[in-house]
Amino acid sequence: MNLIFLILISTVLHTSAIQSAYGRTSKFTSNETIETYRQRQDDATPPSILSWLQDGNIRFASGKANHGGYPRNTQRRMQIASQGQRPLAVVLSCIDSRTTPELIFDTSVGDLFTARVGANVVNDDIIGSVEIAVESGAKVVIILGHTDCGGIKGACSGLELGHMTQLLDRVKPAINSTNVRLDLNPELSMFVGERVVSNRRYIAEISHDNAEASAHQLLSRSSILREKFKSGEIVLISAVYNVETGFVTFNPQK
Ligand SMILES: [Zn+2]
Repeated sequence: MNLIFLILISTVLHTSAIQSAYGRTSKFTSNETIETYRQRQDDATPPSILSWLQDGNIRFASGKANHGGYPRNTQRRMQIASQGQRPLAVVLSCIDSRTTPELIFDTSVGDLFTARVGANVVNDDIIGSVEIAVESGAKVVIILGHTDCGGIKGACSGLELGHMTQLLDRVKPAINSTNVRLDLNPELSMFVGERVVSNRRYIAEISHDNAEASAHQLLSRSSILREKFKSGEIVLISAVYNVETGFVTFNPQK
């Protein structure tokens, strides 16, 4: 008897919780706001999305974040996006706790696809994830390195430990690229200074080249991304986030 009572009570509570959750959706979210959110992806162009991300980063870095502006209420946005996501961009970034793309571009839920892996390297699963994003309507692909990257520093110091060894191996070509680039540019080499792990300028230069290498790999290994890039359907660009200033510097588009 007690068991039947408990099951009955539990079913009633569960049902009312579901009704309550969906009830809030209809209360806060009109069809108009859902349509505005959906239409935004159709109307956006790669350059307009890039500007929107740059503006968001400026708001973040200057302490004026507003969760992407529309709608400012994150609960409303969550409920709108629950009816079907329409993100505008995909960001491949490092796992570093200071480089969360949704925060540093001042966006909200339903705005960005994000793929995160130590030192923002590329492997088959990352390529597949970025392909999912662009096939789902994302029109900008950002490969976001950052200053003071532990993965870059680990690779520079030759760290070999557990599964980190194979991850850091993927960074090593970028270290070579940076050294060659600095050898060819004595003025820059002088500005960067000592090529040691403790030199933040040197690590930042490698972060730049590592993000560029990941961008190049995405294009060379994925025919889906390559075709969309060539046709202008997507923009694919590398960038470096400065953990001290909060600003993202986009590398020139190739
Ligand atoms: Zn990192």
